[in-house]
Amino acid sequence: MPSVSARAFQIAFERTLTKGGRLSAGDVKALAGAAARIKDASEARAAAEVLALVKHDRLLDRDEVEPARKALCRLLGVSPRGLPPSVERVLKNAVPVPNVRVQQYDLSFDFSERARGEPESFPARAVITLEDAAGPRSILEADPERLVIDEVRAAGKSVPFTMGDGRLTVTAPGARRLDIRYRVRPTDDTSGYGLVRDRHAGRMWTLTWPYNTGALFPSTSRPHDGATARVTVKVTRGEHVVSAGKQQADGAFHLDRQVPAYAISFYTGRFVDGGTSQRSNGVDVRLHGLGSKVPEATRRELRTTVAKAVEFFSSWLGEYPFGDRLNVVEIESEYGGMEHAGAVAVGVGQARADTVEAGVHEAAHHWFGDGVRIAHWGELWMSEGFTNYATFRFFRHHQGEGKFHALLDAAKETLREQLGKHHTQPLRGPSTSDPQAGLTWVPYMHGVWMLRMLEVKLGTAKLDGLLRAWFQHKRHQAVDTDDFIRFAEASTGERLRPFFAAWDHLQAMPSVRDKSKIEGSTVTFKLAPRTPVPAGVGIPVTVRGRRGEIAQLTIVPGEERTVDVGFPVRKLEWDPERTVMCDVG
Ligand SMILES: [Zn+2]
Repeated sequence: MPSVSARAFQIAFERTLTKGGRLSAGDVKALAGAAARIKDASEARAAAEVLALVKHDRLLDRDEVEPARKALCRLLGVSPRGLPPSVERVLKNAVPVPNVRVQQYDLSFDFSERARGEPESFPARAVITLEDAAGPRSILEADPERLVIDEVRAAGKSVPFTMGDGRLTVTAPGARRLDIRYRVRPTDDTSGYGLVRDRHAGRMWTLTWPYNTGALFPSTSRPHDGATARVTVKVTRGEHVVSAGKQQADGAFHLDRQVPAYAISFYTGRFVDGGTSQRSNGVDVRLHGLGSKVPEATRRELRTTVAKAVEFFSSWLGEYPFGDRLNVVEIESEYGGMEHAGAVAVGVGQARADTVEAGVHEAAHHWFGDGVRIAHWGELWMSEGFTNYATFRFFRHHQGEGKFHALLDAAKETLREQLGKHHTQPLRGPSTSDPQAGLTWVPYMHGVWMLRMLEVKLGTAKLDGLLRAWFQHKRHQAVDTDDFIRFAEASTGERLRPFFAAWDHLQAMPSVRDKSKIEGSTVTFKLAPRTPVPAGVGIPVTVRGRRGEIAQLTIVPGEERTVDVGFPVRKLEWDPERTVMCDVG
C-alpha cells in the first residue's frame, strides 16, 4: 500500500497535467512540495524521478512518459500497466516531441524600434529550411511565454498553425521551408533564458542552453539536430551586434557548419573594445567587453590565452571549424561561460584564472559539443568531459605539468564533494536525462578523468592520434559513447569496453587506505579499499630513497606485495602523475 503522502503526490501530478503537458512554475512548486513530504525512502526516490522529468523544462515530453510511468508504478506499488486510469489519462497529455529536422535557421530580429505592446516584444522572423519535406503536421518548440506567432507561410502562402503546450504545430504538408513571423519577448532577469536584457548596461544577449531555444525562435532544441544558421539583427544607431564570426556583406552573421540550436546566439549593445589577437593559423580572437567590470589585465589575458588555445586545438585536433573569427563576449551570467558557436560568452565577476579557464573551455567546445555534437543529453560527457580534457591539455601545453595536475586535482575534488552527498549519476545516462537536473558535475569531472585515464592506458601519442581522428571523422555529426568506444577500439586495436564498463557509474570517489610498511629497503605495499575501486585499477607508486634513489611500481588495491627495492627507503609517493582517479591516504 502506498503511503498517504505518495497518494498526495499522485493527486498533485494529475492536477498539474490535467490541462496539458506543460506545467506552470506554480505546478512545479506544488509537485516539489508533495515530493518533499514523502517520508518513505523508496517512495521518495520514485517521486524524485518523476519530478526530475518535469522540474526544469516544465514539460512532460512524450518520450518521458515511459520513465514517468515506471517511477509512478514504483511510487504506488502497482505492477507495470497497473496505474490508476486517472494517471493514465493525464499521461496522454504529454507534449509531442518536435518531428522535423532543421537544415538551416535564417533568423532576423529588429530591435531598432521601441518594443510594442504589453508585455513588450520585438518583431522577429525565422525562415526554417527543413531536411525533409514536411509531413502532415510539423511540430516545433515555441515557448508561449516568450514568443507570439503572428503568421506562418510556406511556398508564399499563409498556412494554418496552432500554439499549445510549448509547441508550434504547422500544417504545411510537403513544405521545405517555413517562414514564421513572430514577436519575441525579452526577460530582464539576467539569470534568465531566451532573449535576456540587462537594462542597466543597455545590452541584450541570448542564452538558450540546453532546451530553451523555443524561447528565442521556433526550433528543435535536441542537441543531435545540427543546423546551419544566418542571424540578422537590426539595432538602434550607436549599438553593435556580435554573433558568429564576422558580419557578412549581406548584413547577416553566418554559421555555415551545423551546430546544435543552443549554439546559435547574438549579443547587442555598446561594447568595450577588448582588442584582437591574431594567430598564425589565421583565426582572429576578438574580445567584446562589458563596461569596466573586468580589469584590463584580465581582459588581455583572456583574449591572448583564448587565441593561443584556438591555435593549440587547431594543430592538435584539426582546424577551427567556424571560419576565421572567434568572438569572446563578456556577459552577466550565472554560468562561467557558454559555447555559442563563433561567439562564446564568458561570465564576468569570476576570479581572473576562472575567467581565462572559462574562455578556453568555451573555445574548446568548437571541437567538442559544437563541432562533434552529442546524440542526446544523457551523453553530455561527450561534450563537457572532452571539452574539459582539451582545456586541461591546453593548460598543460601552455603552463606545464604542474598546472595540468592542479586542474586534475581540482576536478577530482569537485567530483568527490558531489559524490560525497550521494548525488551519483552514471557517466552516460538515458536519452531523457535533463542536463539541468541533479548532479551536473559528473559529465565534466568524471568525464575529464575518463580521458586522462585513457591517455595513460594508451599513451599520450596514441590518444592524441585517436582524438584527432575522432574529430576529423565525426565533426558536424551527432555521436554517443558507444560510437566512441567502437571507434577507439578500431583505431587503436585495444579492447576498451571493459574499462568504460568498470568506470561507468561511481557511487563514491574510489578511495584506498595506505597500509604499507617500510623497513629499511623492504616495503610491504598494501592498499585497503575504503570505497569500491573499479576493476583493473593499479596505482603507481614512486619509492624514494634517502640518497635520491628512485624505484617505480604499480600496486593493485587489496593485494599485499613485499618488495626489496635495494636502497633504504625514505618515503612513498602515490600516483604523482595523476594517472588514476582514486584517493590514496
Ligand atoms: Zn562546457
